[in-house]
Amino acid sequence: MIYPIVKYGDPVLETPAAPITEFGDKLKKLVDDMFESMYEAQGVGLAAPQIGISLKISVIDTSFKEDPAARLVLANPQIVSVEGKQRGDEGCLSIPDFRESLVRGKKVTIRAQDVDGNWYEKTGEDLLARAFQHEIDHLNGTLYIHHLSGLKRDMMKRKIKRLKRDGEW
Ligand SMILES: [Zn+2]
Repeated sequence: MIYPIVKYGDPVLETPAAPITEFGDKLKKLVDDMFESMYEAQGVGLAAPQIGISLKISVIDTSFKEDPAARLVLANPQIVSVEGKQRGDEGCLSIPDFRESLVRGKKVTIRAQDVDGNWYEKTGEDLLARAFQHEIDHLNGTLYIHHLSGLKRDMMKRKIKRLKRDGEW
């Protein structure tokens, strides 16, 4: 099932999500639906709050269907370590048609549970490191817009307000 993506302005995106406590068929179905919804939206990462479900789970596929091993499920993820810095453009499915330059860690190690509840650690660099930080932020109710300077953030908010007024958001 493909879920519509919740857009910026919906409070679910700025609310810390609840931990996953039950691993089973229901969660497997949710994960399948999240991958399907992410691919449909042309994204490389999706967090459950972005489909209106306030649970600590995200999916990532930085290969966009090319490499099955790149399909990652992050349940209850935490960042273990961050090394170095990278600057690059970042976007978000919940803030469509906007991209902003943002500094993130270059090499990031996370600890998370997979769809079966098994804990694992994984280190990502560059795009994967950026995706880890972006998706884990989502689960804590943080959007990339929160990392921008006040001036840039206000500009984006004004543009979004106009789009909303015109019924285009
Ligand atoms: Zn996002």
